[in-house]
Amino acid sequence: MRYLSTRGFATGEQGSSGPTFTEILLGGLAPDGGLYLPQTYPKIDGDELARWRHLSYADLAHEVLRRFIDDIPPADLQALLARTYTADVYCNGRVAADAQAIAPLRWLERPDSRQGEGGLAILELSNGPTLAFKDMAMQLLGQLFEYALTRQGEEINILGATSGDTGSAAEYAMRGKSGVRVFMLSPHQRMSAFQRAQMYSLQDANIHNIAVRGMFDDAQDIVKAVSNDHAFKARYKIGAVNSINWARVAAQVVYYFKGYFAATEGADGDDLPPVAFAVPSGNFGNICAGHIARMMGLPIGRLVLATNENDVLDEFFRTGIYRPRTTGETVATSSPSMDISKASNFERFIFDLVGRDPAVVRELWAKVDAGGAFDLSGTPFLDRLPAFGFASGSSTHADRLTTIRDTYAKYGLMIDTHTADGLKVGRALRTPAMPMVVLETALPAKFEDTLVEALGRRPERPARMRGIEDLPQRVAVMDASVEAVKAFIEEHAR
Ligand SMILES: *Cc1c(COP(=O)(O)O)cnc(C)c1O
Repeated sequence: MRYLSTRGFATGEQGSSGPTFTEILLGGLAPDGGLYLPQTYPKIDGDELARWRHLSYADLAHEVLRRFIDDIPPADLQALLARTYTADVYCNGRVAADAQAIAPLRWLERPDSRQGEGGLAILELSNGPTLAFKDMAMQLLGQLFEYALTRQGEEINILGATSGDTGSAAEYAMRGKSGVRVFMLSPHQRMSAFQRAQMYSLQDANIHNIAVRGMFDDAQDIVKAVSNDHAFKARYKIGAVNSINWARVAAQVVYYFKGYFAATEGADGDDLPPVAFAVPSGNFGNICAGHIARMMGLPIGRLVLATNENDVLDEFFRTGIYRPRTTGETVATSSPSMDISKASNFERFIFDLVGRDPAVVRELWAKVDAGGAFDLSGTPFLDRLPAFGFASGSSTHADRLTTIRDTYAKYGLMIDTHTADGLKVGRALRTPAMPMVVLETALPAKFEDTLVEALGRRPERPARMRGIEDLPQRVAVMDASVEAVKAFIEEHAR
């Protein structure tokens, strides 16, 4: 399997050769500013689907991922996946610690074929180390980085900025990994006490937390400035693990298969009924994996994209207009991990929508990268949109509170604010007879304040998270200065 860039590597000439999986693993953007995608999507037929139905999560991951990764020997890949997807890592977030299954499906309303009811379910993706779905892919990234760096005898210094979920998922994935150091910037005193404790209590020598006196945007700007210093970047082998990383998207494809099998448990033999998935979305990484699973032949009847008040993606799927917002137009909401101004993975989907023509993508993103918008209404591309199975909607703070209350009252289940956005929109767009699976993207313990606002009580915490605010913390506090951060890296990156 070779990879291409959505921008055609600047020439429009993809050719048959292109980088392999391991060659793009440690990089971010393609050199031409585009995003990497496989040259073709592997196709999975009904027989294979029937065989995959009862595999363990690690074995299912192997079946899916070996189609995208052909430059790691299969036995190594299998061993690496078996090390990654263990009950020990992925089942410890559950308060009740009942299930041993990774990514279990929880029915809110069971299917009832006599009533023509497909059922409503939540796919639990947040039982990993940091209580958010990002662990599903990030833990694998940690294993892949260590494997590739050891084989190449290299090292990497991962530099990132976080307002919460991504940074902690990256740190828990990379802690103790040889060849990898993490420098994670966060806004000083602007994260919740729980989020601070989650990150700053890590004592691993290869994890460096840097709290900058400023806002998230200041931290982000420092990361950009350091990465734009090409000499510094090369000397210190600066890398990233942001949401455009292809390996993260690929790893996320696996749980759509898992969710599909669980939601169609009763289906016999070669019967492959369609299933709908509702996905709380920000940077379009999670739902992009659903799109790819569908392109591979998984019978996904509908991909329901849910946004919060920052509805740039909902607007596109309703109107054909993609209009990234400015920082000033982006509002801080109670589902903060979806507070995005532009969706960094969206270019991958548009590439497929425009018939994989990199010239069209270049033209559209020339507008986006210049701070503008594009409008596909009235173009033939928009006529193709229905064939991709998307539907969309948005959700507000009031919707989140109502959905959290309603879900607790009706099903006795506490859900987090992002999952509530997904459930609200998924419910509104249900079609009879088709199961609707809402992807859970975080546990409510991560967003206590809004849960208290909705229910008047605190969500339960997994046992190992109780009292983490009292643990000793390790963090360097500094001014929002590029030079200060560089000096810190110089001092610790050897
Ligand atoms: C990252 C995140 C999202 C958004 O996922 P994308 O892949 O960026 O669309 C939604 N919910 C939570 C809790 C997250 O951490």
